[in-house]
Amino acid sequence: MTTAPAPRPAPLPAPLVELRDVSKTYPGRVTAVDGVNLAVGYGELVAVVGRSGSGKSTLLHLMGTLDRPSAGRITVDGHDMARLSDRELSALRAQRVGFVFQQFHLAVGVPVLDAVADGLLYAGVPRRERRRRAASALARVGLDHRTSHLPNQLSGGERQRVAVARAVVGEPALLLADEPTGNLDSASGAAVLGLLRELRASGTTVVVITHDRELAARLDRRVEIRDGRVVGDTSGVLRPRAGVMS
Ligand code: ADP
Ligand code: MG
Repeated sequence: MTTAPAPRPAPLPAPLVELRDVSKTYPGRVTAVDGVNLAVGYGELVAVVGRSGSGKSTLLHLMGTLDRPSAGRITVDGHDMARLSDRELSALRAQRVGFVFQQFHLAVGVPVLDAVADGLLYAGVPRRERRRRAASALARVGLDHRTSHLPNQLSGGERQRVAVARAVVGEPALLLADEPTGNLDSASGAAVLGLLRELRASGTTVVVITHDRELAARLDRRVEIRDGRVVGDTSGVLRPRAGVMS
């Protein structure tokens, strides 16, 4: 009797972000990211976890094209970073990537709606449309009742939701959040995490850095970083490693 050949696995869709053998060495010879292979698919919600100093922020900057690698290859949305000029890279970033940082610096005296609308300043969107989209981004983060508030009238959790609204107002494919709950109490942190989940449900790919293991444990995929290397990845999908397959 002959055994039927095993069905071929379906081809994996191209990832949104892919790092192949990526390293980043800072002047002073600190290798912050060391030979990382990592792929994040469209629509994933991924936590990057690791201690302070393990290279998480550096990795996030690389994924978001804020910085170029010292070695290795990074592709974002099908674009090989190495083939893009700084200008093209900025354009790619402006159109496809949103960032949320631990500290969100809202300008004093600028109402929330304007702060979010300013996220579209460089996208060439007319003012009225910027404000309309900002209002809709604020509704998305549950702050439609706060549009004319000033930063000092908001709680820390609300400010961070404004930061998320500003990051998503341009409808990026990829949202990168660096310790977005680091300054929040646990209830506000949980709310921000819930928000990231909702964004993901509506199609945004989200990568969130955290050193909060409890928070990370609630996300589907966790990538663990130690000394600049990926030492764990709970991804259920096995992806070919760089060089193993074409
Ligand atoms: P994490 O976000 O996990 O705390 P980072 O990526 O910020 O880690 O830092 C990783 C390592 O790289 C640390 O040793 C840090 O001191 C170093 N580093 C980060 N940014 C720079 C920089 N701009 N210049 C030099 N060294 C840096
Ligand atoms: Mg960091």
